[in-house]
Amino acid sequence: MTHTLTIIIPCYNEEEMLPVSSAKITEELTRLIDTNKVSAQSCLLFVDDGSRDDTWQIIEQLHEKNPVWLKGLKLSRNFGHQHALLAGMSAACGRSEMVVTIDADLQDDIHAIEKMVDAYNEGYDVVYGVRSNRDTDTAFKRQTAALFYQLMRKIGVEMVPNHADFRLLSRRAVAALLSFKEQNLFLRGLVPLVGFPSAKVYYFREKRAAGESKYPLKKMVQFAMEGISSFSIMPIRLVRNLGLLTFLIGIVYMFYVLVQKMSGNTETGWSSLAMSIWLLGGVQLIGLSIIGEYIGKIYSEVKRRPRFIIEKNLYSEEQHHHEST
Ligand code: UDP
Ligand code: MG
Repeated sequence: MTHTLTIIIPCYNEEEMLPVSSAKITEELTRLIDTNKVSAQSCLLFVDDGSRDDTWQIIEQLHEKNPVWLKGLKLSRNFGHQHALLAGMSAACGRSEMVVTIDADLQDDIHAIEKMVDAYNEGYDVVYGVRSNRDTDTAFKRQTAALFYQLMRKIGVEMVPNHADFRLLSRRAVAALLSFKEQNLFLRGLVPLVGFPSAKVYYFREKRAAGESKYPLKKMVQFAMEGISSFSIMPIRLVRNLGLLTFLIGIVYMFYVLVQKMSGNTETGWSSLAMSIWLLGGVQLIGLSIIGEYIGKIYSEVKRRPRFIIEKNLYSEEQHHHEST
C-alpha cells in the first residue's frame, strides 16, 4: 500500500520561480505516483507567506489548471519562512501521511524526495536532507555556517549540520512538532527534539535559479540569534562566569592595592576606590546572572514544550497519533 505525500513549498515573492518550480516538482510527483512510491492523493501545497508580487495569483492559476495536485494556502501577511512551513504542515497533517518541505527556488534536489520516501517506507519518521556540498555558497557563508553549528553544539543544541528545512516528516512527527507551542520557531533545533527514528539523505545543492535570496545577511544573523536564544540560556551563564572572573581579579588586585598602600605611595582614597570597582563589579555581574538564571527558568516554563512524546503504546488501546502500517 502506498502512502499520501504532501510537498510543502513556502513562497515569499517567488513569481519568477513559481512557474518553473511548480512544473518541475509536479513532474517529479507524477513520477513518484506512477512508480507507486506515493499514493495518487498526494499533492503540492504552496504556502504564500504574504507576498507582495503576483505569487498568489500564480498559485490560484496553477490550482485552477490542476485542482487535484496543486493546492495553495495564503497567509494574511508575511509571517516568515518558519511559520509558513508550520502553517503548511498543520494543514497537511489531517490528510497526508507524510510531508516534505522544500524551498521554492529549487536549490534542493527534488530527486532526493524519492530517497526520503524510501526511508519513510523503511520506518523512519524524520528524514533530513543534508547537503553534501557547500560550494554554491560564498566562503563567508560557509565559514559562518560552520561556526554557527560549532557554537550550537557547544551550548548543547542538537542540530544536523548542513541540513536546512528540506526534510520529510511522518504524520505523527508533524503532530508532535505541532505540540511545541512556542512563538519563536527554529525548526532545525526543534525537529531533533521530536525524537522518533530518523535518517539522513544526502544531496547536491544548486545555486538559486531566479529571484533573490530572501535571507540577506541581516536576516541570517537574526535567525542565528533566534536559534541560540530559543534553545539556551548559555549567554546568561557567560555573564556569571564573567562576574566570577571579575571578582577573582578584584581579590588579586586587592592584595596589590594593599601592598601599594602599605608602602605609602598612593593618593588618599585611591585604594578603597580601586578595590571596590572590581569587587563590586564582580558582585553585580554575579547578581545579574542569578536573576538571569530565574528568568531563564521562567522562559523555558512559558514555552510549554511537551514534556514527553509517546512513540508506541502497548498500554491503552486508543492511539493518539496515527500509526502507519
Ligand atoms: N520564504 C518565506 N517567507 C519569508 C522568506 C522566505 O516563505 O519571509 C521562502 C522563500 O520563498 C523560499 C524559502 O522560504 O521558498 C527559502 O528562502 P530563500 O531561498 O530566499 O533562502 P536561502 O535559500 O537564500 O537561504
Ligand atoms: Mg534558497
